[in-house]
Amino acid sequence: MADEHSEKPELSAGAGTRIVKAGRRKEWTGPVVNPPIWRASTHLYEDMAAHREGSKHNEDGRFFYGRRGAPTQWALAEALTLLEPGAGGTVLYPSGVAAIAGTLLTVLRPGDILLMTDNAYDPSRAMGRGLLKDFGIETRFFDPLDTTGFEAMICDRARAVLLECPGSLSMEVADMAELAAIAQRRGLVSIVDNTWASPLGFPALERGFDISVMALTKHVGGHSDLMMGSASAGAELYSKLRKRAQNLGHVVSPDDAALALRGLRTLQIRLERETQSALEIAQFLSARPQIARVLCPMLPGAPGHELWKRDFSGGCGLFSFVFRGGTSQMRDRFIDALKLFGIGYSWGGYESLVVPVDPAQSRSVTAWPPEGMDASDCFGVRLSIGLEDASDLIRDIEQALGQMSAPEGNVR
Ligand SMILES: *Cc1c(COP(=O)(O)O)cnc(C)c1O
Repeated sequence: MADEHSEKPELSAGAGTRIVKAGRRKEWTGPVVNPPIWRASTHLYEDMAAHREGSKHNEDGRFFYGRRGAPTQWALAEALTLLEPGAGGTVLYPSGVAAIAGTLLTVLRPGDILLMTDNAYDPSRAMGRGLLKDFGIETRFFDPLDTTGFEAMICDRARAVLLECPGSLSMEVADMAELAAIAQRRGLVSIVDNTWASPLGFPALERGFDISVMALTKHVGGHSDLMMGSASAGAELYSKLRKRAQNLGHVVSPDDAALALRGLRTLQIRLERETQSALEIAQFLSARPQIARVLCPMLPGAPGHELWKRDFSGGCGLFSFVFRGGTSQMRDRFIDALKLFGIGYSWGGYESLVVPVDPAQSRSVTAWPPEGMDASDCFGVRLSIGLEDASDLIRDIEQALGQMSAPEGNVR
């Protein structure tokens, strides 16, 4: 970024202060609080001298042409950079999946091997088997809980590792410190899909990873009304990500950037509230006889809780649980009986959501259900806890559990 600016907060300031101040340079906001929505394809030059000069520099914060963004997008990117200690910059993408694809296509070349955690987001897995394969890149999946096995898989052709913690759907917490150390020692570019924790809960770059990717669609947007992704990295990798994103023509709309900025301002308090409610609900569920296991890293005694406590400074409202035995019809009855939870994909919005999850279908090298769980305990549910009152959500879940167990034919 070129100029001095009055509103750039110190990195040492607390996350709340940085969230409020970030991206609000005077030159972008003018006399108002938020950067206006600059709708622009064409950027006009004063004269030919300015045109010649302007065409020479491909840097952030310089007007050129709409595909390189304008102050609304620059403000969001700068705000995200300030939230991720160690980042030299942030690239915005039109979705979280585009951010993952843009990142992988930056760091991988034909002949390379990508190591991917076996509990990754399903479209990431599909990218390995499809897009990357078509470009001559091989994806090998590893058990995120087996760090020795992970290191043993690293060979000359292994170029990068894609991690996600906790894992999508099954919520395992890996030893992220150990995985970062191995990746560094063995020269892998390490990428974390950090959508669940965000840098507020897991400052991935500070913890030794190279690229921190987020689906802004989830927590940062926070209101279920936009699609966007981001990748933050140190200066050198950032510059490569930015170049590749320009090659691929990635750009986000200024309207969506403004919405994401609005969401970002309340990210911390929404995460705190969701985490608190999720914990209460997880506690309630763990005491129910119908539930075999609650997969919520914030819950003391739950799988991964100790590692989560060691490495994370915050959680969120997304977690899963598994019914004790039962049938898929019973699970359907439970979900249909919920009144306060919408049935739908995505998460991280202000409203609570529920979806059925069957992790067994998206695994290559790890077992589901995992060791220690009965094979019949296989019907899972994922909840995204929103900003409703936790006591209401608990009451709703309690009545739905009651309906689930109702004898067949007597559901209503
Ligand atoms: C939703 C999600 C994505 C993809 O984000 P989109 O904006 O929907 O493309 C990536 N990673 C994780 C962990 C997600 O939950």
